[in-house]
Amino acid sequence: MAEKIILLGDARSPSLPVPGTLEAPTGLLSDALARPLHDLRISVTDRCNFRCVYCMPKEVFDKDYAYLPHSALLSFEEITRVAALFIAHGVEKIRLTGGEPLLRKNIEGLVAGLRALRTPSGRPLDLTLTTNGSLLARKARALKDAGLDRVTVSLDAIDDTTFRRMNDVDFSVEDVLGGIAAAHDAGLGPIKVNMVVKRGMNDDQILPMARHFKNTPYILRFIEYMDVGASNGWNMDEVVPSGEVVRRISAEMPLEPVDPNYTGETAARWRYADGGGEVGMISSVTQAFCQDCSRIRLSTEGKLFTCLFATRGHDLRALLREGRSDAEMSSAIAHMWRKRADRYSETRTINTAGLARGTRRIEMSYIGG
Ligand code: SF4
Repeated sequence: MAEKIILLGDARSPSLPVPGTLEAPTGLLSDALARPLHDLRISVTDRCNFRCVYCMPKEVFDKDYAYLPHSALLSFEEITRVAALFIAHGVEKIRLTGGEPLLRKNIEGLVAGLRALRTPSGRPLDLTLTTNGSLLARKARALKDAGLDRVTVSLDAIDDTTFRRMNDVDFSVEDVLGGIAAAHDAGLGPIKVNMVVKRGMNDDQILPMARHFKNTPYILRFIEYMDVGASNGWNMDEVVPSGEVVRRISAEMPLEPVDPNYTGETAARWRYADGGGEVGMISSVTQAFCQDCSRIRLSTEGKLFTCLFATRGHDLRALLREGRSDAEMSSAIAHMWRKRADRYSETRTINTAGLARGTRRIEMSYIGG
């Protein structure tokens, strides 16, 4: 049974230090490895209505699990204020995550607030959301009307029995597909469908998923099963390398590589040779992409994480709630990003992953993927 996880608490998370002399409250930033700050991922809830075995397994996230109280969550006003500070420092893309972000009440209100923000050159943000699709059929139109650009939907199997077993709450594939169709009809595209592949659990779904989404407007992306958090008992043997996924699909439906859309794109692009569309490979284990990583993550309770695999966050909420000025918070953000040197995936080894099981890494359901 997986170890019971306790999220890193406030007491152990240091506040972001505000430099004595305020530095660069606005302007582009570069970290210690010369990487810009471009993407902000905001987790809006630590709750999810699925219990996916690799993310929020039932034996850990049971009825006794202590989720964050509402007062601990950043309010929409706080999130929007923080987002504006990041935009002044170069962020052009914001992704809302969770947990399941559509569980946060009136999430479209937050979308509308973020939609109104502009980059220093006056452009709107690229505003996206990652969801398990369960509430999408109900919410798609309101999200689009509020100004959301597009969604990414997680779906780990097209076989209903396998999918129900994986989400562990008996949710059907058909309902997720209904959500995807509703999002498409609402104009929340191009829609990406993310499939985490774990050997022995759903790798038999690679070909059925590829067949299902070929010749559709949707871009299916295969994600190598990662050692995020401490509750999934990660083991390298359970990773299906992207190269193997490409080979398996190509044997039936030949694929050819496509140039990336932009530097730092997490998914390597492939297209069907017969013109049947595109798939993506996110090889965070076998082909790390840390050298171009421009992402920062804001947790539900306002901790900043400079890497998905970080062991502790910087407490931005403390600065927000002790009445710090925008200039002070911006300066603290600049200070933190300049010191950033994370490149976990590049330095990952089976040994370190094994060791990490004994440490308290942040759960994906807390920080977002
Ligand atoms: S391991 Fe950390 S630094 Fe590397 S790509 Fe992932 S989030 Fe970025």
